[in-house]
Amino acid sequence: MKFVPEKAPITGETLDSLEARLRESGEPAFRAKQILDWVYKKRAKSWEEMTNLSKELRAWLAATFELMPAALVLNKQSADVTDKLLLELGDRSLIETVIIRVPQEGVGLDHSRKTICISTQVGCAMGCVFCASGLAGLKRDLLAGEIVAQLLQVCHLEDARTPRARDELASFDNIVVMGMGEPLANYDALLRALTIVNADWGLGIGARRITISTSGLAPKILKLAEEPIGFRLALSLHGATDEVREQIMPVNKAFPLAKLLPAVAAFARKHGRMVTLEFILIDGINDSLEQARKLRDIALDLHAHVNLIPYNTVDGLPWKRPSLTRQKVFAEVLQRSRVSVTLRREKGHDIDAACGQLRLKTEIERTSG
Ligand code: SF4
Repeated sequence: MKFVPEKAPITGETLDSLEARLRESGEPAFRAKQILDWVYKKRAKSWEEMTNLSKELRAWLAATFELMPAALVLNKQSADVTDKLLLELGDRSLIETVIIRVPQEGVGLDHSRKTICISTQVGCAMGCVFCASGLAGLKRDLLAGEIVAQLLQVCHLEDARTPRARDELASFDNIVVMGMGEPLANYDALLRALTIVNADWGLGIGARRITISTSGLAPKILKLAEEPIGFRLALSLHGATDEVREQIMPVNKAFPLAKLLPAVAAFARKHGRMVTLEFILIDGINDSLEQARKLRDIALDLHAHVNLIPYNTVDGLPWKRPSLTRQKVFAEVLQRSRVSVTLRREKGHDIDAACGQLRLKTEIERTSG
């Protein structure tokens, strides 16, 4: 289903598209840069704040565009270092955005390095069996402006906590497109959004700091490899053989490893960047020594970094994480062959940080209330 909002999100406009809209309405094109400065640099929360624009122009903007198309309805902070934002869109759909803080010595948490995890769809059609986001299927794709708005909401939130951040382009270090949805299934909106996020007239985040994570849409990976902006790529592998992968990720039927891995290799060659292989460790499913050895071989072939993520339990799903010993034994198989590997420390377990859980709970509460 395609969502057509009453007013287009201003956060979905590029400099070119906004200039064109202004020209059509008889305004000079140079106003576009001023408007986007108010949105991304000064982070205005109302059109009235844009005092170097005429009253007429501000009225036209208010009638034409939505300044913030994603309203913050809930901010859940975990006991560790993760914030989870629940955002409501124009059609009352809910999406999740997560702030992950990396504590640094001698620096308060507000000033720590931050990675923002954003969503690209409401729900997801990919049906990975371990995932809360896929449980209710796909509701709709996000608009480019709704993808960008998640980051702008984070900026507003961080500005309120640490006013110094307001003078900076953005108050976070990295973006991972790893939240709800399969990003490459919403390709055009994703690319438009990331172009805005990357541009100096937008949020000004370097492409090297933006990682797109896919469940494995091989043809779209090849398409992404041809894009002029070199974003980083992460592949949610989660199974090192077709047999195991197919058990938990239906996408593997359409794009088995023989198709998928060459596409990832082509992307890495084209952009000269190390790809990350995400591997959620699920007890009794993909945590065997055989899987570890196969994963090691794939990582060595691709010169890829491996991110091992102990599974976060999801209400209503039977899967659980392996014991800590088993996780470490698995990681050691890779380390012994000098594969670059991280065994992720748990973050946000107490705030339903597993992708899609907070939204799912809120949707259930809404329908039962
Ligand atoms: S893990 Fe990602 S691709 Fe798979 S169902 Fe969940 S959101 Fe979709």
